[in-house]
Amino acid sequence: MYASRMSNLPPYLFARIDAMKAEQRKKGVDLIDLGVGDPDLATPPHVVEALCTAAKDSKNHHYPDYAGMPAYRSAVAGWYRKRFGVTLDADKEVVALMGSKDGIAHIGEAFVNPGDYVLAPSPGYPVYRTGTLFAEGKVHDMPLLRENNFIPVLSDIPKNVAKAAKILYINYPNNPTGAIAPEGFYKEVVDFARDNEIVVVSDNAYSEISFDGYRAPSFLQTKGAMEVGIEMHSLSKTYNMTGWRIGMAVGNAEVIAGLGRVKTNVDSGVFDAVQHAAITALSGPQDCVKDACRIYQERRDVLIKGLQGLGFDVPLPRATFYVWVPVKDCMAFSGRLLTEAGIVATPGVGFGASGEGYVRFAITRPVARIQEAIERMRKMQL
Ligand SMILES: *Cc1c(COP(=O)(O)O)cnc(C)c1O
Repeated sequence: MYASRMSNLPPYLFARIDAMKAEQRKKGVDLIDLGVGDPDLATPPHVVEALCTAAKDSKNHHYPDYAGMPAYRSAVAGWYRKRFGVTLDADKEVVALMGSKDGIAHIGEAFVNPGDYVLAPSPGYPVYRTGTLFAEGKVHDMPLLRENNFIPVLSDIPKNVAKAAKILYINYPNNPTGAIAPEGFYKEVVDFARDNEIVVVSDNAYSEISFDGYRAPSFLQTKGAMEVGIEMHSLSKTYNMTGWRIGMAVGNAEVIAGLGRVKTNVDSGVFDAVQHAAITALSGPQDCVKDACRIYQERRDVLIKGLQGLGFDVPLPRATFYVWVPVKDCMAFSGRLLTEAGIVATPGVGFGASGEGYVRFAITRPVARIQEAIERMRKMQL
C-alpha cells in the first residue's frame, strides 16, 4: 500500500522510545525521562500574555502571510542584528518557519534532485536524513568523533561526493554531542561550500543555550557565509516554545526564496497570534533566557559530577541541554537504564551510525530528579 520511499525511512526513534516508555508507565514505574529534548521550563509569562491578547483580535484569525508577517520578519532581522551583528533584509533574507524542523524537512525539495548527495553529521538530528530521503537524495554521513571534538573533517569527504552534493548541514552548538564550533571552522565551511557549489544549512537551534560565559556565534557572521548558505533558528529551545511551532530561516536570498516557494505549496504559514507572541519574545527582555541557562548549567554540573563519580569519562558540554555519555553498547545500555532504573536516555545510534558507543541524556528535568537518576544508576551493576 505504501510508496517505496516509505520503506527507506528509519522508524522515528522518539516514537519507538515513546512506546517503550508507555509500557513501563503501565507497569507503574516512576520514570525519570531524560530522553526527548523538550524543555520542562514554561514559556515566559509575557510571551503567553502576548498570545492571549493577539488571539482575541479577529484580525489575526485569517490565513497568514506565507513568508511570515512583515513585523515578524523585522523582529527576526532586529534580533539577528542585536545578537550577532548580522544585517538581514527582512523582505528577502528572512522566512518564517513552523519550527526549524519544518525548514529542514522541506529544504531538500527545493535543492536536491533524485540521487544527489546531502552531507549530514552522524550523529545528527534525524530530520537531516529523512528530509533528504523525501527528496529522494542520498545522505553522505560526516562522522562526528570525539577525537575531532565532534567536528566533521571536510577533507575526508570524497571529491566525487562533494562535487555531487547539494546541501551541507552543520549544527553547532550540537545536538546530540553538546559540542561547539571551534574558531575557524565556519571559514573552512564557507570555502568548502564555495569550491563545491553546495548550499550550507546551519541549524542553530541551540545558539542561546550555553554555559560558563560561552556565547555561540551565528554561521552568518563568517565572511562569505551569506553567499553560500542560510541559518535556521527557532524559538523552541530559546524560549521554551516547542509546542508553539515557530522559527525562522535567514540568509542567502536565493536559498530563502527556494525554501519559501516549497512552503507556499505545502503549508499556509504560522498563526498570526503566534507570530505576535514571537515578536514579543524576540524584542522583549531576555532575562528569561539567562535564567534558563543558569538552571541548565546547575543540572549539567550535577549530572556530570554524578556520572564521573560512577566512572564515566564524559565530555563537559559548553552549550545545549544534552550530555553525551560514552558507553559500551548504546542500545543495551539504554535498555538496561529503562528496565532496571526507570531512566529514559536516548541510544546514540538513533542519531546515526557514528552515535554508537554513546547515550544522550537531556537535562530537561529538575536537579532533584537528576540526583535521583544518579542514585538509581549507582544501584545498578554498571
Ligand atoms: C529541537 C531541534 C530542532 C527543531 O526544533 P523546532 O521545534 O522544529 O524548531 C532542530 N534542530 C535541532 C538540532 C534540534 O535539536
